Amino acid sequence: MARIVMKFGGTSVADLDRIKNVARHVKREVDAGHEVAVVVSAMSGKTNELVGWVQGTPKVVGANSPFYDAREYDAVVASGEQVTSGLLAIALHAMDINARSWQGWQVPIRTDNAHGAARILEIDGADIIKRMGEGQVAVIAGFQGLGPDNRIATLGRGGSDTSAVAIAAAVKADRCDIYTDVDGVYTTDPRIVPQARRLKKIAFEEMLEMASLGAKVLQVRSVELAMVHKVRTFVRSSFEDPDAPGMGDLLNPPGTLICDEDEIVEQEVVTGIAYAKDEAQISLRRLADRPGVSAAIFGPLAESHINVDMIVQNISEDGSKTDMTFTVPSGDVEKAIKVLGENKEKIGYDVVQNESGLVKVSVIGIGMRSHAGVAATAFKALAEKGINIKAITTSEIKISILIDGPYAELAVRTLHSCYGLDKN
Ligand code: ASP
Ligand code: MG
Repeated sequence: MARIVMKFGGTSVADLDRIKNVARHVKREVDAGHEVAVVVSAMSGKTNELVGWVQGTPKVVGANSPFYDAREYDAVVASGEQVTSGLLAIALHAMDINARSWQGWQVPIRTDNAHGAARILEIDGADIIKRMGEGQVAVIAGFQGLGPDNRIATLGRGGSDTSAVAIAAAVKADRCDIYTDVDGVYTTDPRIVPQARRLKKIAFEEMLEMASLGAKVLQVRSVELAMVHKVRTFVRSSFEDPDAPGMGDLLNPPGTLICDEDEIVEQEVVTGIAYAKDEAQISLRRLADRPGVSAAIFGPLAESHINVDMIVQNISEDGSKTDMTFTVPSGDVEKAIKVLGENKEKIGYDVVQNESGLVKVSVIGIGMRSHAGVAATAFKALAEKGINIKAITTSEIKISILIDGPYAELAVRTLHSCYGLDKN
């Protein structure tokens, strides 16, 4: 017997037939004698619809929040998950499975006060563990918890992944299965590279980079939590026949296992290629080269919630003036330029230039730690295709390269094949 948390995303619960299909996946694990908790997203498209309704309301004047009265935003958008948790419990009853729905506040899943983008602080799993022991399936609404103000708080878009991993950690589950519309994590986006391979295993750290750098399978926060609490997490498809051979395999179900790097015996140098579109580059020219200049630039940007990514500063030629270039999401360029304009005197620069429509492609793999020449291979391959590199950043396990948007797909394909990731 094992204890399993099963999470189903929006496309997996998109209509009543799919909810019935999800119930069959749950039944398979229950029939095998496992203790099961389920976490559900809203039906696909529902959250967007709810967010749209809220955005039609007037913004609260002076509210220090990107949302339109963030507390009521949360009350509205959390309702999508409430609906699916009830519907799935009903579908399970129809299959003679003892099940009960749970909203975040009923568990309770305690969060901080950042309405609209709350973090989970604590989950009391006692009641759920007790009921699972009595053979009841807990069907928990994802994406939500209870804030310190005793109000519903949501976890940011894609947050039900995080709910699932956090619950798995709280109830000490043997496994957290994230069911989605793809059958695992691939070496890169298969829509761009048809030769992309499904990974059998990927290390937490690599998955964290993949998710942060553009792969959209999991919410980044969920991977952080899985890494901290060492939750073995499977990404797998809900669209496969729930009763196909191997689907109930306890140790090796079909899908990709996200796990500790020690569990990965045959480590490749490079595990995957990620990409993020819609990056923009901002350059400050002829900055005063003095202590405090970076703080004067990035402090105000951070206060305005602008997410700065790659930062490149030139070594100044004569010790007096230098250039600073950094990237932000394209949608934040105008806001960033405005903030920089307001702080022009304090920062002390000559002109600001910007360019949108760029793409960041990243090469990821923990094997890089112990191999030389990984970056050089990428640069050579891109050069052979005539792709110009605008900026580079590296960490122990990744190389990120900024290029012009139109070259994105060629770059991803080139990098995928130069590290031998294409399946043969
Ligand atoms: N329904 C929420 C969203 O679309 C949470 C989730 O699906 O993970 O963001
Ligand atoms: Mg999702």
